[in-house]
Amino acid sequence: MFIYIHLPFCLSHCIYCDFYVELKATEDRRQAYLNALKQEIAHYLGQATHCSPIRTIYLGGGTPALFPAEEIASLLSLLQSFAPFAPDAEITLEANPEGMASLPSDYRQTGVNRLSIGVQSLQPNELKRLSRVHSRDQVFRFLDQVRTAGFQNISIDLMYGIPEQTMETWQDTLSQAVQLPIEHISMYGLKVEEDTALDTLIRQGRMALPMDEDTVDMYEFAVNYLAQQGFQLYEISNLSKPGFESRHNLNYWDNNEFWGFGVSAHGYINQVRYENARNLQHYQTNPILRVENHFCTPQEQLENALIFGLRKRAGVSIVELERRYSVDFEKQYLPRIQRYLDTGYLHLEDGFLKLDPKAIPVSNDILSAFMD
Ligand code: SF4
Repeated sequence: MFIYIHLPFCLSHCIYCDFYVELKATEDRRQAYLNALKQEIAHYLGQATHCSPIRTIYLGGGTPALFPAEEIASLLSLLQSFAPFAPDAEITLEANPEGMASLPSDYRQTGVNRLSIGVQSLQPNELKRLSRVHSRDQVFRFLDQVRTAGFQNISIDLMYGIPEQTMETWQDTLSQAVQLPIEHISMYGLKVEEDTALDTLIRQGRMALPMDEDTVDMYEFAVNYLAQQGFQLYEISNLSKPGFESRHNLNYWDNNEFWGFGVSAHGYINQVRYENARNLQHYQTNPILRVENHFCTPQEQLENALIFGLRKRAGVSIVELERRYSVDFEKQYLPRIQRYLDTGYLHLEDGFLKLDPKAIPVSNDILSAFMD
């Protein structure tokens, strides 16, 4: 089993963020939320006829590290009462450099063995522009602390395309980032989501994003530079040292099923993609309510397998695709994608269909060729 749990509280709301986030993680509010979450987990896992071992758990948010270690431990032991953890289970906790509610070593003792840390930038001005509450120095201190506490699998998020960011500041952030004790980098282009504070600032002309060509250059520079530093791109936005790829996220890109628990969480079980209530009050009133349930037709499953799978550098195995989705790939897709194969945007190599790195900026057009 693969499990995502959404823990929605944050210290403040970053201007670009459109995740479901609540402020004020007081003890009462955390307890009320955990009670609802446990009710949801017990309801669905209690009903499941067969729970295979838990292979990954991803505690995302929000800022899950605002929940003290004993509260995280209580969630993990509830999950364990329904299914054993696989011996090499990957258990990730998202945290921010400004700190955690408990000591890092206390989280390590709960069984959490991977951290994903929202660094975003190592430039004081950019952090400020993003309204992040941590400083560059806090990043270095925090990373030292968590490494000393025994975390040997640490990922950081970095962002490019930040207002007023230049290639020089991005290069400086990357050269500092590789000095940190980390095994994995998720690298995101800043997207302006509708109705965020950033959206308003941009519409009012009070902030401007770098030009698209510049962000493409930033992406390409990072992929090449980080490869020289030992971080290989294994998915459009993710790089790691060998053996430290995120197994939880690979499961999404392999179009496999996963449970999603918590407010605004999404899941994919028994071919149904579902979504939970998007607001805390609604969720806590009825935590087992799914506000969306979409049964994926065989054609949609196939399209998802191609669209998610092409995000991986390894690409999509044609044999596996044909076996799993009963499709004749050559007959159904070759005529549609021939022009991308001719231009080198797609490759068919050793039985795998792969997206060329130069196609990443235009990947949406290419991926739409797989949709009916
Ligand atoms: S810390 Fe992360 S989840 Fe919280 S508001 Fe900022 S970007 Fe969103």
